[in-house]
Amino acid sequence: MSKVVIVGGNAAGMTAASQIKRQKPEWEAIVLEKGEYISFAGCGMPYHIAGTVPRFEDLLELSPEKAVRERKIDLRLDHEVISVDPVQKELHIRSSTGEIKETFEYLLLATGTLPITEGLNIFSSKKVFTIRNLYDMQKINAFLEKNKPRKCAVIGGGYIAVEMLEAFQERGLETHLIHRRKDLAKTFDQKISDLIKDKMQQKGIVLNLNSSVKKVEEVNSGVVVTTETDELLYDFVLVATGVKPNTDFLKNTSIELGIKGAVKVNRYLQTNFDYIYAAGDCAEGTNLITGKPTYVPLAPKANKEGFISGLNICGNREQFPGIIGTAITKFFDLGIARTGLILEDARESGFDPVRYEFTSGTKVRYYPGTEDLYSVLIVNRGDGRILGAQLAGPLEAVKTIDTYAALISYEKTVKDAFTMDLSYAPPFWPVLHPVVLAGRLGQKYAL
Ligand SMILES: Cc1cc2nc3c(=O)[nH]c(=O)nc-3n(C[C@H](O)[C@H](O)[C@H](O)COP(=O)(O)OP(=O)(O)OC[C@H]3O[C@@H](n4cnc5c(N)ncnc54)[C@H](O)[C@@H]3O)c2cc1C
Repeated sequence: MSKVVIVGGNAAGMTAASQIKRQKPEWEAIVLEKGEYISFAGCGMPYHIAGTVPRFEDLLELSPEKAVRERKIDLRLDHEVISVDPVQKELHIRSSTGEIKETFEYLLLATGTLPITEGLNIFSSKKVFTIRNLYDMQKINAFLEKNKPRKCAVIGGGYIAVEMLEAFQERGLETHLIHRRKDLAKTFDQKISDLIKDKMQQKGIVLNLNSSVKKVEEVNSGVVVTTETDELLYDFVLVATGVKPNTDFLKNTSIELGIKGAVKVNRYLQTNFDYIYAAGDCAEGTNLITGKPTYVPLAPKANKEGFISGLNICGNREQFPGIIGTAITKFFDLGIARTGLILEDARESGFDPVRYEFTSGTKVRYYPGTEDLYSVLIVNRGDGRILGAQLAGPLEAVKTIDTYAALISYEKTVKDAFTMDLSYAPPFWPVLHPVVLAGRLGQKYAL
């Protein structure tokens, strides 16, 4: 019988704990979770704030009681790990009843992320928010209900900013975006960024672009955001300027950290101590295209790494090969999806990338209801290897990003895209499926 301690009780941590108890029911699987919630759907938070998913309980995937009763996990809520001694195999824990120690044979770090606040001093304010967990979401909802604000700003330009702008707009607020670049976050291709910005303007979002925030300050009448050129007053502000791995409590240990402070792991998800694993948002990943370390904090990685680390702790040798940055979201009826490298990263990684874009229909021309799907492709000149793709268009149509993700993951080329046997019927796609068309155009531009 072995003793496994897991730090963090959400996607990665609880998946691993469940897997360990499935594989080795007789082993001890202790989950230390600093909060009172486990297995919550963080990705659903914007839609709860928007009112699309009205019931809070629907965001809870697994109750603590069920985890203990049915999965036999030794779950300890209100237990925050404050330091790790990887050599003595010991943890220091803070809980509301004081400080305690715990030992382990195997350790899994699954502590997720912390918000980056760009040096803004915001945590003392009751009108400036971040959104990383259910407590943050509850604070925002309570503020909206109690104070009935009319005007707010979201600072940031990534997918969480996009989703939260929609949520606040859905709640009937006058919603402003403040972002330091003229385009949205670099992860969006310029064309896709332009389409999102157009849609934002159509929906009445006020865009303050090229606006670097110097100060965010609570005042009696709301929050003043000071940029290089303006002082802007809002009833409240959400700071969504990105996240970093939640690994500060490991900084003085000999556990190796990599990009942005994420825990370095091998393909078996082991750290430099082979009995200590890391999974999910606190862990580095490998970019499958470049082979280099990368940091992409998204839920599918966390779930898969939780599953694989759980298996490996139990003695298996499963590999997690890596990720390519596939992601999907929406802004109202505009679906947005990406996978692989952007042009700049492809260049920096030593490729000779060609970028091209095209617009195609989502159904055949004569079938009612066809809409535009915008596609941007990044392809290596010479061999035509597909390196990246981005889509914007109707929600169902942008799901075809997964076809690109498969092509990129298996190092396929524009010729493969063109010859692939994809589906066709007038109500679904044009006879040249957008991926097939991307393959045909790619042969012209890149080969
Ligand atoms: C608003 C929002 C929307 C999102 N939407 C999407 C989406 O649409 N698609 C997608 O792929 N991803 C999305 N994500 C990201 C996704 O939620 C994360 O990738 C995923 O939750 C990571 O799981 P994790 O278990 O690694 O970390 P987390 O979910 O962050 O869990 C970490 C857990 O560790 C606990 N913890 C932290 N430190 C300690 C400590 N020292 N001691 C004990 N416990 C600790 C925390 O309380 C937490 O419960 C979204 C995130 C947010 C915030």
